[in-house]
Amino acid sequence: MSEYYCHECAQRRGFTYSTETVDLTGTEYQLGKYVKHHFPVKNRGTVSVFESPDYQTYASCTLSATASGSAEIDDDGRLNMIFFVGKTVGTTYQDGNFIIPTDTIKVVLHTDPARIHTYPVNSANYERSKCADCGKDILI
Ligand SMILES: [Zn+2]
Repeated sequence: MSEYYCHECAQRRGFTYSTETVDLTGTEYQLGKYVKHHFPVKNRGTVSVFESPDYQTYASCTLSATASGSAEIDDDGRLNMIFFVGKTVGTTYQDGNFIIPTDTIKVVLHTDPARIHTYPVNSANYERSKCADCGKDILI
């Protein structure tokens, strides 16, 4: 099961890194992820797409999440950042069909400047998650 840490506890544990100077489409891998999460989906499977297609919004979403978000250590031991925006930032599709609007930003691989990328998720996936250190709600 994934573990969660509120921003303060994540900072204390050294889980947070600034992405201010990172080029988020600097590698072919990142460019592929950018395209995947910004343009209408015809692919099979589950994909979340941002509402706003421009790079500037993508960069500021990513920065907000790494500067103020909560940390997730997922089942594979990867460190991700999660930031609740509280308004619709995108949409999740399944096999090209609308599933649910998304109101939360997730930054994955944020310690790797060549692979870091960001996509929108739904806060309902996290609503019962508490900080493993202090017990606070992780989406606050
Ligand atoms: Zn905490």
